[in-house]
Amino acid sequence: MTQQIPGIHHVTAIASDPQRNVDFYTRVLGLRLVKLTVNFDDPGTYHTYFGDVTGGPGTAMTFFPWPGARRGRIGNGQVAATAFAVPVGSLGYWQQRLKELGVPTSQIESRFDAEVLPLADPDGLRLELVAGAPAPAATPWLSGGVPAEHAISGFHSVTIWAARLEPTAAILSQTLGVRPAGEAGSRTRFEMSGDRPGTIVDVLHRPGEPFGSGGAGTVHHVAYRTPTDDGQLAWLRTIAAAGYNVTPVQDRQYFHSIYFREPGGVLFEIATDTPGFTLDEPVEKLGTAIKLPPWFESQRAQIERILPKLTLPEVQSA
Ligand code: ZN
Repeated sequence: MTQQIPGIHHVTAIASDPQRNVDFYTRVLGLRLVKLTVNFDDPGTYHTYFGDVTGGPGTAMTFFPWPGARRGRIGNGQVAATAFAVPVGSLGYWQQRLKELGVPTSQIESRFDAEVLPLADPDGLRLELVAGAPAPAATPWLSGGVPAEHAISGFHSVTIWAARLEPTAAILSQTLGVRPAGEAGSRTRFEMSGDRPGTIVDVLHRPGEPFGSGGAGTVHHVAYRTPTDDGQLAWLRTIAAAGYNVTPVQDRQYFHSIYFREPGGVLFEIATDTPGFTLDEPVEKLGTAIKLPPWFESQRAQIERILPKLTLPEVQSA
């Protein structure tokens, strides 16, 4: 194994109402809206990105908010839960905060050596707050009144629901170099060793359970990191050689991407760490205006007419 995936780059999910999406992730979870752009494959709709101060790899939760989108069903063949890291001892604060804000949560549970608070976003997307060791190298944004000592520092993990464990385990460990790191009941943990948040993939083996279907409140794909374009081309060759149907490199403006479906059904992406969200606006202005890639700029007036109006969060920290 010459190459190893160092961590999660971003997670992209489907939402319905864009305003409710922006309000929840900024005002409730306290993340920064780091980029407001359009879905490059559907430019009459938004693509929202939330993360730390720069939306660095391992912190970026992104959405396709489609107004009126019907709800999907969470099930096998999906990333069924996305977990954010919070400091040890913060779950009591979050439990109280989420209760006051009317956000549905479940009982705190223990998972490996950490405490986990499950919650749902307004579209029913399953999220988790995991209180563990501080995540490295992220600079939490402070908004929505979340104090620094409790702020989300980036991803902790994703959990894949799998009808069969072995094929998903095999692509993670044999093809992507993500090493098995323990089992607890039907949960198998895989760990990456990068220097950014989001280094864990859990696979929950759920034989005979229904498959999910896409829609609001479900994850569309999980993207893993690769530091450079050269690294990405090496991954492209490796994944194709392993027999997977992998796309050519796509220019996503803030990173470059390849996509392939793992055997259990989850859409995987490998995205470059560069150029990042400061490509077209400075750090202090991130997320304060609708940004379009150069190839859509000539259609800006038309696109802005179609996009629903959004009230953006006020800049609260830097
Ligand atoms: Zn993506």
